[in-house]
Amino acid sequence: MAPIKLIVAGPRGRMGSEALRMIEKEEGFHLVACIDRKHDGYAVKDIETLPSFEALIYEDAEACLSTVEADVLIDLTTPEFCYKHTKLALEHNVRPVIGTTGFTQDQLDELTELAESKGLGAVIAPNFAVGAVLMMQFAKWAAKYFPDVEIIERHHDQKRDAPSGTAVKTAQLIQDVRNPHKQGHEEEKETVEGARGADIDGMKIHSVRLPGYVAHQEVVFGGMSQSLTIKHDSVHRESFMSGVKLAAEQVMKLDLLVYGLENLME
Ligand code: NAP
Repeated sequence: MAPIKLIVAGPRGRMGSEALRMIEKEEGFHLVACIDRKHDGYAVKDIETLPSFEALIYEDAEACLSTVEADVLIDLTTPEFCYKHTKLALEHNVRPVIGTTGFTQDQLDELTELAESKGLGAVIAPNFAVGAVLMMQFAKWAAKYFPDVEIIERHHDQKRDAPSGTAVKTAQLIQDVRNPHKQGHEEEKETVEGARGADIDGMKIHSVRLPGYVAHQEVVFGGMSQSLTIKHDSVHRESFMSGVKLAAEQVMKLDLLVYGLENLME
């Protein structure tokens, strides 16, 4: 079978450079171009820190997508640009695999519709770590029996959106099985604003941002004389790459937008 032709956006980034290292090892993938904010017209191999690919770098995403023949765009830039890149990719019949988080519901609805009207696969995965996907599924299961729950997510201090896409996705999965209700004391009052965290249907979400972290989450359930904690840690960005690989392979078989890696896992 011919290798899947990939464009990577954000190749100098921590996730993007890890994705290039993964692609280098995979016979089923062929890097055809990169989209970056710098180095227009250079080959990837000319950038000292990146693997030795002949593929060219484009600063203009539209120029890249209309010039280069590609199957899949793996976008690992920032939430501000990712929406635009996803839309452009679909318009140019390239299947997007998106790891950036922070889409609004309106943006997701629009992209879902666009993918459907084009009959093209697209994957948006708030978390590419297979362990984190399992954590979310286990949390949904546990919430049936423990409806009082708080989510604590910890990320490196360069992360721009809060709460993390994984925390929001976890809360959404729990919403499927938990009746909305206020948690804690009826008359609870914050003496310092924000002390109890963000609120989704009464579930609290706490976002920690510190140097030294990569991506970590605890889902803490409280019940009668017992508590249950489901915890996942990504300690290196390598942990996300088996999910990126799975998404780039599976997106070729899809004709609609799939949100969440769990929908690609058996
Ligand atoms: P990062 O190190 O800051 O990398 C982002 C890269 O994107 C930088 O090289 C940046 O260039 C580049 N960039 C920004 N805007 C661009 C544009 N318009 N066109 C081309 N390149 C652009 O961040 P990271 O830690 O790798 O994370 C990247 C994204 O992946 C984030 O959105 C993060 O939330 C997401 N993420 C997802 C997962 C997951 O499992 N789904 C896991 C971790 C991270 P400059 O250096 O010039 O700014």
